[in-house]
Amino acid sequence: MPDAGALEGIDPRHERLARLVLGARSVVALTGAGISVPSGIPDFRTPATGIWANVDPMEVAHVDVWRRDPQRFWAFYGHRFAVLGEVEPNPAHAALAELERRGALDAVLTQNIDLLHEKAGSREVVELHGSIAGAHCPACGHRADLAETLGLIETAVDGVPRCTACGGVLKPDVVLFGDMLPPVAVDRAERFAARADLMLCIGSSLVVHPVADLPLRTLRGGGQVAIVTTSETPYDDVAAVRLDGDVVDELTGVIAAIDRLRESA
Ligand code: ZN
Repeated sequence: MPDAGALEGIDPRHERLARLVLGARSVVALTGAGISVPSGIPDFRTPATGIWANVDPMEVAHVDVWRRDPQRFWAFYGHRFAVLGEVEPNPAHAALAELERRGALDAVLTQNIDLLHEKAGSREVVELHGSIAGAHCPACGHRADLAETLGLIETAVDGVPRCTACGGVLKPDVVLFGDMLPPVAVDRAERFAARADLMLCIGSSLVVHPVADLPLRTLRGGGQVAIVTTSETPYDDVAAVRLDGDVVDELTGVIAAIDRLRESA
């Protein structure tokens, strides 16, 4: 193989990360809101537009609001389900699915609830904050998928989807503010992180638990972390590679570098 930085027409940073991916035994990706921004999903923390411009999601998407005021809760969440359900994955999601297909990526650990990794073809996805796959009835355990939930919202006089078995108010399969994180998903993510020798942190500022701790588990296990995000993170100083450009440009650049390295091998 040629020396580092030897590939003509390839960004040396992309080549460096490509070499780390190809040389690693176990690679995992950790993704946040930034990977879905090119799909048209604004970061939860950036100011919303339209009818939700004056709504603080941190306040409405709270388990207490679901309990006390399901009508207000579902007016917001029903809109969110409908919008997110229509969104398509972008080339950054596709790049991760492609790496997994080639056997170069073990899993995607994600904070996102938008199902875009699954839609792009990723198979091993650990959803740390749940997803918009549907809703469930905490009273009896009955489940409704996304289409059924949207249908129930549409037909309910007050816009609140209720359990078709017992009449209880449905709760989205999403971790709400004030909810516990799903222990099984957190445990799986921690195990993937601990045994990875390379963690690709993509589109996350890595400040919210549990994603803030996952790169540390990889580092403690002797692995390396690479960061692909425009924002600063607490791991910038210890990252083996730091890519701060557009997430689609950076990831497609890394895939191109991997292709070139394989050709020249
Ligand atoms: Zn029920």
